[in-house]
Amino acid sequence: MTAPVLREHTLDLIGNTPLVRLEGPSREAGCDIFGKCEFANPGASVKDRAALWIIRDAEARGELQPGGTVVEGTAGNTGIGIALVANALGYRTIIVMPDNQSQEKMTTLRALGAELVTVPPTKFADCNHFVHTSRRLAEETEGAIWSNQFDNTANRKAHIEGTARELWEQMEHRIDGFTCAAGTGGTIAGVGMGLKEFDEKCVIALTDPHGAALFNYYANGELKGEGSSVAEGIGQGRITGNLEGAPIDTQFRISDEEGLDWVARLLREEGLCLGLSSGINVAGAIALGRQLVAEGRSNPRVATILCDTGFRYLSTLYDAAWLEAKGLPVFPWLQTGD
Ligand code: PMP
Repeated sequence: MTAPVLREHTLDLIGNTPLVRLEGPSREAGCDIFGKCEFANPGASVKDRAALWIIRDAEARGELQPGGTVVEGTAGNTGIGIALVANALGYRTIIVMPDNQSQEKMTTLRALGAELVTVPPTKFADCNHFVHTSRRLAEETEGAIWSNQFDNTANRKAHIEGTARELWEQMEHRIDGFTCAAGTGGTIAGVGMGLKEFDEKCVIALTDPHGAALFNYYANGELKGEGSSVAEGIGQGRITGNLEGAPIDTQFRISDEEGLDWVARLLREEGLCLGLSSGINVAGAIALGRQLVAEGRSNPRVATILCDTGFRYLSTLYDAAWLEAKGLPVFPWLQTGD
């Protein structure tokens, strides 16, 4: 057991998340695989970190004044983080979200007091895309800032100064590889940059879901996606401001089926209830671990991100009818037999 610590303010509950060795993935990879428990943040996802850093940065630059409003376009988790941080600091929140995201995220955002605006899912080039809609709303709202998580590098700073430093300490200054998927890219770029400063031999790998364009970009310079994924919050089609200069050494592409298999195994064998991006990250970490073993590194230690709680996806990933409708395998314990 680790020593309990007193936190002076609710915002101090963000970050300093536990790191856990994952038994099944370690066995599978033939080396130690560790998961950073970002579901342990107050908003139950890794995005609380970006929300806090972005809001603190806007305050420090004098852009966000007392009583002001924070407007963001998000797949949901960043909105939840922003709503909590904004509540703690006395700001109003407006969240724009594509309407194909999980019902749980929308219900949660309304429950937290955010003003929710949903838009149909469109391509980034469409002027009604949730990111562009959020920028317009920020411009039209008195005293509002646009937090712009995709291109605002206060996002990745949260991971350079927080997540990477924590991993380095928790892994006792020995970390051979790190991998995760990219939504904004803040996590992979920030943790990558931070870890490279501590140890330039630490291998940083991008784990990309199907349908995203980054695997091809880092493999051969071409921004091109193939296939599709139901994973929420990951899968990027462009080099965001946060991804610029990210130190990516290698890349893996992971299917939803493979990610879901790890979601199921981590739940049933290790008692962790996670979202699909975590399952995809764990599959990527196993691929990276195997690669490092094959390259002859002795007892490599690989870390990844357990991005959010599975409780956010009860109506999707954990629902037999939803999985069937998407053509995905249904977890055996959810099968009704009719
Ligand atoms: N997983 C989930 C569930 C997310 O919501 C996000 C954020 N969009 C990510 C992973 C990816 O994090 P980042 O934006 O830092 O790339």
